[in-house]
Amino acid sequence: MDQPLSVPPGRDLRLADFDPDFTAGLDRDTAEAETRRHCDALDELAYRLFAEAKRAVVVVLQGIDTSGKDGTIRMLASGISPQCLAVKSFKAPSALELSHDFLWRVHAAIPPHGTIGVFNRSHYEDVVVVRVRKLVPKDVWQDRYAQINAFEKLLHDGGLTFVKCFLHISKKEQRQRLEDRLKDPKKQWKLGPDDLADRERWDDFQKAYDDALTECNTPHAPWHVVPADKKWYRNLVVARIVRQTLERLDPKFPKFDSSLLTKLD
Ligand code: ADP
Repeated sequence: MDQPLSVPPGRDLRLADFDPDFTAGLDRDTAEAETRRHCDALDELAYRLFAEAKRAVVVVLQGIDTSGKDGTIRMLASGISPQCLAVKSFKAPSALELSHDFLWRVHAAIPPHGTIGVFNRSHYEDVVVVRVRKLVPKDVWQDRYAQINAFEKLLHDGGLTFVKCFLHISKKEQRQRLEDRLKDPKKQWKLGPDDLADRERWDDFQKAYDDALTECNTPHAPWHVVPADKKWYRNLVVARIVRQTLERLDPKFPKFDSSLLTKLD
């Protein structure tokens, strides 16, 4: 049995329809071995993208606190050479960033051709967290869906491929992960004052994500809902999606100038 990772653009996307604990009947060892194979393939594909230097990819990672964005980045970085990778984390905007339009800092972080960018949070915070925490009025965040779609289309037409992944965990799994953070001195630093307050607004976040994922699920930049209660299954799914994306792009090494062969003394 399989669980779809997406819905067709134009259709309502409801997180409640996706099982966060889905593992396709796989066990951990099998999934980890398969993830490793995807990472090996990714290394080669990313190298070709880098050599070709004509297109770029951005993996957008969204999800509620503790959903595994950091762990997913570690997995991708374990497979792809650092020179081909650009990781960017989006925190609460600075005063300078707030004095520009909300996409300004995102546009500046778009990776150059040849590079795979990984966004730890993204412009989707500007239609989710700002809505739940009421940081801007409704008419402002509502207009942003169309603005995001136009922005992503512009970048897509310029040779950028978006891989948008929502890391989907259950409320129960989040409780477990928050408890681990509260108890483990090596993880306590990860807990911010907002994390527990945000958990109290769980339903508001799910609703905001339902709407954002529905409104911005376009043919040129579709959303994937990644079952993420099991970290090893989450890694497998993201590695596979990124690999398939790069295989579809099929980057090529630049044409070799064979006259060079005669020039080496
Ligand atoms: P993380 O949780 O990603 O590991 P932090 O603990 O520093 O890192 O949290 C970053 C915080 O910044 C999150 O609470 C996130 O919702 C918030 N944030 C990111 N982008 C925006 C934004 N555009 N507006 C308001 N808050 C934002």
